[in-house]
Amino acid sequence: MTFSELNLSEPIQRAINACGYTEPTQIQARSIPEIIAGRDVLGSAQTGTGKTAAFMLPVLEKLSTVRKGPKGAPRVLVLTPTRELASQVTEATRTYGRFINLRSAVILGGVPYGPQFRDLGRPIDLVVGTPGRLIDHLERGSLDLSRLEFLILDEADRMLDMGFIKDVRKIIATLPRRRQTLLFSATISPEVRTLAGDALKS
Ligand code: AMP
Repeated sequence: MTFSELNLSEPIQRAINACGYTEPTQIQARSIPEIIAGRDVLGSAQTGTGKTAAFMLPVLEKLSTVRKGPKGAPRVLVLTPTRELASQVTEATRTYGRFINLRSAVILGGVPYGPQFRDLGRPIDLVVGTPGRLIDHLERGSLDLSRLEFLILDEADRMLDMGFIKDVRKIIATLPRRRQTLLFSATISPEVRTLAGDALKS
């Protein structure tokens, strides 16, 4: 399969070309058409398989009809277990979204609130973050998830191993039911399956 068979729009295809990618990886070839078609996805993929682009390219494709939301109310939320993964996903968002006009923010614990309040005080398209600080912002009213269109749970197994399940469920409980949910995990344990059963449309 080639990327052109996926019929991605010009700015997304241009970003792929700029990365030098010639063909989609297996997880990309399987996930991208499903996500474009509007379906929820449970993806089993290790880091290094191209899983970030597997969800980010189609989500950016669907966002590229950019409609700025009100301040602090993103259309996309990527939940990650660690700061390192959040930074990688943010970097990927910049790389793959470089030819679309996108505003994103990274919301992590252990860093000052000031810049986060500033980022969330503006119209925003996409937020990447770790669960604890996102809940802080929800409780303070600086983050509004009532308009969310896409929830991505990245490395869900690690999120559960690190004890974030309550926080993840708390965040999910605030989201619109009508949304697209994408869950990626290196291993699909019974706990991951239960979370997927609750968070994804069957
Ligand atoms: P990830 O599994 O998302 O951490 O991605 C692993 C690495 O694969 C990253 O450095 C990406 O830049 C690279 N990558 C992603 N998709 C492709 C592709 N289709 N062809 C070549 N490299 C890719």
